[in-house]
Amino acid sequence: MEVTDYRDKLIVPGFIDCHVHFPQLDIIGSFGAQLLDWLNQYAYPAEMRFADPDYAREVAVAFIDELLRNGTTTALVFGTVHAHSADAIFEAAEAKGLRLIAGKVLMDSNCPDELRDDPETAYADSKALIERWHGKGRLGYAITPRFALTSSEAQLEAAGRLAAEYPEVWVHTHLAENHEEIEDVARQFPDSRSYLDVYDRYGLLRERSVFAHCLHMDDTDRGLMAGKGGAAAFCPTSNLFLGSGLFRLPAMRAAGIRCGLGTDVGGGTSLSLLRTANEAYKVLHLQEHALPAMQALYLATLGAAEALHLDREIGNFAPGKEADFAVLDFAGSNITARRTAAADSIEEKLFALMTLGDDRNIAATYVLGRRV
Ligand SMILES: [Zn+2]
Repeated sequence: MEVTDYRDKLIVPGFIDCHVHFPQLDIIGSFGAQLLDWLNQYAYPAEMRFADPDYAREVAVAFIDELLRNGTTTALVFGTVHAHSADAIFEAAEAKGLRLIAGKVLMDSNCPDELRDDPETAYADSKALIERWHGKGRLGYAITPRFALTSSEAQLEAAGRLAAEYPEVWVHTHLAENHEEIEDVARQFPDSRSYLDVYDRYGLLRERSVFAHCLHMDDTDRGLMAGKGGAAAFCPTSNLFLGSGLFRLPAMRAAGIRCGLGTDVGGGTSLSLLRTANEAYKVLHLQEHALPAMQALYLATLGAAEALHLDREIGNFAPGKEADFAVLDFAGSNITARRTAAADSIEEKLFALMTLGDDRNIAATYVLGRRV
């Protein structure tokens, strides 16, 4: 038997990214816009290129390689409106044996014509993708309306019908990210009490519903989300980069909502969960809280697995779980080598790695016990 010696390194469960857009890989770090302008200026033009299936496949393979380079072994992933974008990311994940959840975007309003489906094709394409991919090996499907503003009522209804028909699949969307967006939602859905209430009315708030951002919610919303079993993806690099706001982790957790970290690339600025934890710490610090290293690690591993209802399969090293893990290298860069050498405890070393580390500090990534 071959023995690999990882002395002086730290083996952690594979990182789990609760919210990311693979088609936005190449627009990461685009300058100067808040959410709605950012979508029009950068995200939509990038997603139009995915009309070409070959291009979608090429980006999907590059995206999966980047996840693995960052020690991420599971992600909940947005595609584009094109059904073949979901095929592309599932094929790329399957080739490496990853546990991954993804879906084709549903979008038929307030968006460019090139990226528009309709309620019927949204339903039919998603259903075909569920039948093709959900539960195939380690893959899972997420019904993926982009957000409330980009779906007609008929499309939200179709999505809700699908969500009721397939309770075992995920629902993945955005919620309460940006003030302008929230005002538009209130105008478009005048009968709804809140943004979350829109999703709830269409049957999209349930177990296995995962909402990115959740920045501007009140206690009633938090109680509703907790009661219905929805989960939140905390995406600090995106929330800071797009100037969206600060995630209220203590309030979310106090309400009993499952939370995990998400990178939200390309609104987010890194696929590294270490760098994401670094920004999460600062987001909490601005609200007079702190994020200890062990809690940050939890949000990137077991906490994220709980948010995705995958904690029976992944998230820690309990017997019977799948052997996905990352090998962290304290000496991945000169500064992390020096800082961790000066640290006294494992908490201090890990905190230094979260504050200073990135993909250079990932020595190896294992999927189902196999180095990839
Ligand atoms: Zn997003």
